[in-house]
Amino acid sequence: MEMSQRAQRGPHDVQDPDPYLPGHGDLAFEVESYEIRLDYRVSSNRLDAWVEIVAVANQVMTLIRLDLHGLEVSKVRVNGNRPARYSSRGGKLRIRLAAAVARGDRLVIVVRYGGQPGPVPSIWGDVGWEELSDGVIVAGQPGGAPSWFPCNDRPDSKATYRMSVTTESAYAVLANGLLVGRRRGASRTTWTYEQSQPMATYLATVQIGRYERRTLAGSAVPVGLLAPPKLQNAAMAAFALQPAMLRVFADLFGPYPFDEYTVVVTPDDLEIPLEAQGLAVFGANHIDGRLGLERLVAHELAHQWFGNSLTLGHLSDIWLHEGFACYAEWLWSERSGGRSADALARRHHRRLAGAAQDLLLADPGPAAVFDDRVYKRGALALHALRLALGDDAFFAMIRAWASEHRFGTVSTKLFEEHAARYGRAGALLRRWLHGMPLPDLPPA
Ligand SMILES: [Zn+2]
Repeated sequence: MEMSQRAQRGPHDVQDPDPYLPGHGDLAFEVESYEIRLDYRVSSNRLDAWVEIVAVANQVMTLIRLDLHGLEVSKVRVNGNRPARYSSRGGKLRIRLAAAVARGDRLVIVVRYGGQPGPVPSIWGDVGWEELSDGVIVAGQPGGAPSWFPCNDRPDSKATYRMSVTTESAYAVLANGLLVGRRRGASRTTWTYEQSQPMATYLATVQIGRYERRTLAGSAVPVGLLAPPKLQNAAMAAFALQPAMLRVFADLFGPYPFDEYTVVVTPDDLEIPLEAQGLAVFGANHIDGRLGLERLVAHELAHQWFGNSLTLGHLSDIWLHEGFACYAEWLWSERSGGRSADALARRHHRRLAGAAQDLLLADPGPAAVFDDRVYKRGALALHALRLALGDDAFFAMIRAWASEHRFGTVSTKLFEEHAARYGRAGALLRRWLHGMPLPDLPPA
């Protein structure tokens, strides 16, 4: 582990904001907004791009460090000044400032860049911009954002986004937020999206494909479905319960945090579905009726509250995303006439009791971030808390958690303090979060 992290670590000269993501992000500044303009050719995977980043310095700065992987920078300007001096290597774009800026000063950074984007290798596999057989998927979690735009790749530096993508007119483009413009040229079309709610870099995404858009009725939140024409009918059937899920989760967790929700089905098979802010992406294989799709649909939707609206500041707190999304699967089962959350919890508790108990939920280590035990033990911790507090207090606690930290950054410590306001939860949570042996579930 130590060795592989060192091998992947680019040359950098500052402390890592997140030890689970060495080399990513910089604490010296916060980004307020990204305006990203992409000109992309699907046929040749050729990107010509421009970004304007508005940031605020947290300290005196003479150097700006941005994350950018595998793309060539051709011009940089800061605060409208003449082209700035910069160097780009090891996944870092370093921009030398003509004069030092003070804490609180604003930085407007414009970067022209391009090339053939490809994913960022990581211990969790390739993440970021990836070509499909006919289109593009961007799966940014956890360190994939630098594969397509220069950024401060820290999940706690949330910003607003405006993204314009120009590509061949045969393709549909989806990005985060609301579609605010679509301009068709002779053979190419420009799609512009605005994400006005703050978003972490890894949740920014672009999806490009020969998609058709439909809408799913039955929910107050607009639900879109993007799929290739030949998969449209199967996709409509596969996601028929999506609006009902939105109603149930809004009831359990509080209002859906974003303007709309869109489900994308790619023409290719995908190993796992993935969440991005305001949307989720599934593979063709997920709707072929052979996989337990309903569980996955609930899981990805729950991430809009737990992961996207409330986002961890450090990857060690991943259970705040995955434990909650897994528990949401069980809650959906319970609310939709399936097995109760308690029955599912007891089944998974028995399974976990037979697995190695060498994992700390609140700090599982980089290699175990996406370990199924994190998901299940996280969900079990929530179920144990529910049994201890009672349903009324538990769900009031969850709704207050989602509303008080809406669009914010959360941590395990914050959650423990929050839960303690609703009853005697301290000792119970400590065992689940900070101890290795699997605690017993309280009686139902
Ligand atoms: Zn998940």
